[in-house]
Amino acid sequence: MKKLRNYINGEWTDAEAKEFGDVWCPATGEKIGEVPYSSAAEIDKAVDAAKEAYWDWRCTPPLTRARYLFRLKEHLEGAFEEIARILVTEEGKTLDESRGEVRRMIENVEHATGVTTMMTGYNLEDIAHGIDCTAERQPIGVFGVIAPFNFPAMVPWWFLPYAVVCGNTYIVKPSEQVPMTQTRIFEAIDECGFPEGVINMVHGSRDAVNRMLYHPDIKGISFVGQSSTARHVYKACGETGKRVQSLGGAKNFVLVMPDAELDRSMPSLITSFYGCAGERCLSGSVLVAVGDVYDELKGKFVNAARALKVGNGLEEGIQMGPVVSRKHMEKVLGYIEKGIQEGAKLILDGRNIKVDGYPKGFYIGPTVFDGVTPEMTIAREEIFGPVVALMRVKNLDEGLKLIENSEYGNAACLYTTNGKTAREFKYRAVASMMGINLGIAAPMSFFPFGGAKGSFFGDTKGHGREIFHFFTDTKVVIQRWT
Ligand code: NAD
Repeated sequence: MKKLRNYINGEWTDAEAKEFGDVWCPATGEKIGEVPYSSAAEIDKAVDAAKEAYWDWRCTPPLTRARYLFRLKEHLEGAFEEIARILVTEEGKTLDESRGEVRRMIENVEHATGVTTMMTGYNLEDIAHGIDCTAERQPIGVFGVIAPFNFPAMVPWWFLPYAVVCGNTYIVKPSEQVPMTQTRIFEAIDECGFPEGVINMVHGSRDAVNRMLYHPDIKGISFVGQSSTARHVYKACGETGKRVQSLGGAKNFVLVMPDAELDRSMPSLITSFYGCAGERCLSGSVLVAVGDVYDELKGKFVNAARALKVGNGLEEGIQMGPVVSRKHMEKVLGYIEKGIQEGAKLILDGRNIKVDGYPKGFYIGPTVFDGVTPEMTIAREEIFGPVVALMRVKNLDEGLKLIENSEYGNAACLYTTNGKTAREFKYRAVASMMGINLGIAAPMSFFPFGGAKGSFFGDTKGHGREIFHFFTDTKVVIQRWT
């Protein structure tokens, strides 16, 4: 049984905590670890260390800071397979999905090494006679990230490498449901010899989060999680005057036009809805048949979904793993019950699935509801599991209305062979990450990640070019030397 520790000021330390949480392997349903719910005092220690480290780190040339990241990349590559396997063990996704996640994490380290280009400012001579002006980007201080359960490796790294390479110091608060992956990643950080206090990790739950939100010496927070928590974080950071980017939940619509190439599209449609067991903020959730494609789409989709091999993600050939926890499994099953109660027709039932050898695992099989209408709960709320709501609309306009009326605006996808339809969709749909003939519109590290409406609170999104702005202040210097 692994008992997890914090990493503060370059050292592994036992946390001051009144309470410990259990860490589970969702595939087997067994307890595999204990995570401290660190007290506010642990956050204070990490902030003190990060604050102490800040000035020297900030004065370290950006290229030298980038060299730490080059070294870190090599250590992460060395630990790649081990990180991917720990991730599967505590989160439940398949090994291939996990390898994809770790790769995306490392790509953020690679992108961040471009700091010497990305952090440059601009200048203009003679803004008035004999007066010159420069705009310089400067680091700000201590930043932190509060992470969700579903991408234990990647999500904190949408922010961490950029914060640090820009000259800030950092605190990671991993999800208490999946704390082991970051712990292994921090072993790689430890091997790289970063100066003490530059990167810290504190495990915990609400107390630790709330201390981060209200700590006067933390200058900015990146948050990713459910929209209810994202709103809380956004509000608290507003109150305390911190920079904030707060990424929330999603309800993504995937529209299929009558002219779509259904057979070619089916693998990516299935991955969209059932990849990572639907626990992805970019997952398709509502499958919308436009016009007369409905019957054919339904038949092909349900057949492909039924054929998916569900099991322990560490085993060969498994296409969908369990959901993360018993509690989350019950929440998803509750949504299936709700769908039935509200009159949707359950045409593929993933409840009571049996996975050989793992009677205690948190499994839900691929599930499809037909006859779903916009006011039903399963058409509106984020389920975050392998449950698909199938709807039909008459035309693209009606489909776009569904997206517009949704509380969320993370992603939207369209399948079509018509360029004009694709352009109209991209132009009008109220969501921030768009897939055309793709079911998961996941921006790579050099493009921004984040949604609209109830899926995002703030203005600067994750990674991309903008992130260098989030982690720096633009200082304007106006000079006259006569
Ligand atoms: P969550 O909101 O329950 O937890 C996220 C973090 O917030 C955790 O570290 C947790 O300790 C902390 N937390 C939870 N409740 C809190 C509270 N009341 N006060 C203070 N801190 C609290 O999210 P989750 O269930 O771990 O993650 C899944 C959610 O994340 C889904 O809604 C998913 O859509 C979303 N997500 C969004 C994106 C995106 O890019 N928009 C990416 C990944 C996941």
